[in-house]
Amino acid sequence: MAQIPSRSDREIGADLVIIGAGIVGAMCAHYAIGAGLRTIVIDRNAVASGTTGAGEGNIMVSDKTPGPELELALISRDLWFEVGARVGDTFELVAKGGVSVARNNSQPLRDLAHSQSLVGVDAREVGASELATLEPYISREIKYGVHYPQDAQCQPMLAAARILQDFQGRGGRVIPHQEVLSIEESGDGLAIRTGDSIFRAQNVINAAGTWAGEIARRAGSDLPIMPRRGFILVTAPLPQYVFHKVYDSDYVDNVASSDADLQTSTVIEGTKSGTILIGASRERVGYDKSMSVPVIKKLARQATSLFPVLRDAQLLRVYNGFRPYSPDHLPVIGADSRIKNLYHCAGHEGAGIGLSAASGKLIAEMITGIQPFIDPTPFSPARFQMMAVR
Ligand SMILES: Cc1cc2nc3c(=O)[nH]c(=O)nc-3n(C[C@H](O)[C@H](O)[C@H](O)COP(=O)(O)OP(=O)(O)OC[C@H]3O[C@@H](n4cnc5c(N)ncnc54)[C@H](O)[C@@H]3O)c2cc1C
Repeated sequence: MAQIPSRSDREIGADLVIIGAGIVGAMCAHYAIGAGLRTIVIDRNAVASGTTGAGEGNIMVSDKTPGPELELALISRDLWFEVGARVGDTFELVAKGGVSVARNNSQPLRDLAHSQSLVGVDAREVGASELATLEPYISREIKYGVHYPQDAQCQPMLAAARILQDFQGRGGRVIPHQEVLSIEESGDGLAIRTGDSIFRAQNVINAAGTWAGEIARRAGSDLPIMPRRGFILVTAPLPQYVFHKVYDSDYVDNVASSDADLQTSTVIEGTKSGTILIGASRERVGYDKSMSVPVIKKLARQATSLFPVLRDAQLLRVYNGFRPYSPDHLPVIGADSRIKNLYHCAGHEGAGIGLSAASGKLIAEMITGIQPFIDPTPFSPARFQMMAVR
C-alpha cells in the first residue's frame, strides 16, 4: 500500500476521506482499511468528541421492531464482537443482555417480543420470580418482562479510540482539528478543503453524525438530519444493583416517535466502573446544551420507581448530547444522489453505537463494488433527496 503524504503537505491525497471520527467514522475506517483503501479520517475536534462521547454504549436489538433497522442491528451486533476480537476487545464489550419491563398492560410487549422472535431475536418472556432472579433489586411491583440475552454494551469513546488506533497501525491516518469547509469536484474525485489543507480523494464518506446535514450542504447537496437532545444521569459508584440494561417497554415507542416535544422513559444500566447510567429523554430543541432541571428530576423519579434502591444514590454528573435524528428513524447509508463520489453514513439517532459496525461494513462494500450483505435501498440518501427539504 502506498504511503499517505505527511501532514505538512498542504495537499494530501488518498483513496478515501472519512469526515468524522466518531464511532461511525471509526467503523467506516476499520472496514475501508481492511478493503485496501488508503484512508484518512478527519475531524474538526478530537476522536469521539461528538455524540459518541455522550452515548451509553448499548448495542441493542431489543428496542427495534422487525424491519430493515432490526435486520441491520442483528448483523451489527455480531460484527461488534468480530471487531472486538480484531482490535483486542479493550473497550468493555460485553453481551450482558437487556430486560424490557411492562408496568401495566403487558400485551404490547408480548406482541413485540413475539414479532421479534420470528426474525431471529432471542426474546424470553419472564414473570415476577424470574425477574427477581435476573434483577434482584427491581421493584416487586413489576410482574412481567422480556429478557433479551443478545443485547450488549461497550464503552463507546474507548471503542472509537481503539478502533482508530488499530486503523492507524494498519496504515490509515487520523487528522484531528480540521474542520471541513467545502467539498468540490476535482478530477475523477473530490477535493475537501479545511482551514489549512486540501485533501484529494476518489471518494468521501460523510460520517459527521448530527452535523451530516451541514456537511452535505457544504458539498452542494442536502440531508434532513437534526439534533435530538438526550440527558444521562450518572450515579457515584455503587454496589452492583443493576445487572442488565433494564428499561420500560414504552421506550420503544419513544424511540420511534417523530414528536419534537419532550419524551422520557426509564432506561437504567450499570457500568464496569460501578456507576449507574440513567436515561432516557428525547426532545428536539436544536443544539441547546443547557441543563433542564425538570427533565433531570423526571428521569430520577422514574428510575427510583423501577429500582427503589437508587433512592439514596448520589449523582456524580449529568450531561446531554445530540442524537443524529433522521425523519424516518432509519440511518442514511449510501451514495449521495447529486454529488458523485460522496457517500453518507449518518443519522443513526439513538442507535449509532449499535449500528456502526454494520453501517461501516455496508458502506465499504458499496465503495469497493462488493455485493452488499444487506439490501441497502431502505437506507439510501435518495429517499430524502427526492423530497423538498424544509
Ligand atoms: C444521551 C445519549 C445516549 C445514547 N446512547 C446510545 C446507546 O446506548 N446506544 C447507541 O447505539 N447509541 C446511543 N446514542 C446515539 C449514539 O451516541 C450516536 O448515534 C452515535 O454516537 C453517532 O455517531 P457518529 O459517529 O455518527 O457521530 P459523532 O460521534 O457525533 O461523530 C461525528 C463527528 O463529526 C465531526 N464533525 C462534524 N462536523 C465536522 C466538520 N465540518 N468537519 C470535520 N468534522 C466534523 C464531529 O466533530 C464529530 O466528532 C446515544 C446518544 C445520546 C445523545
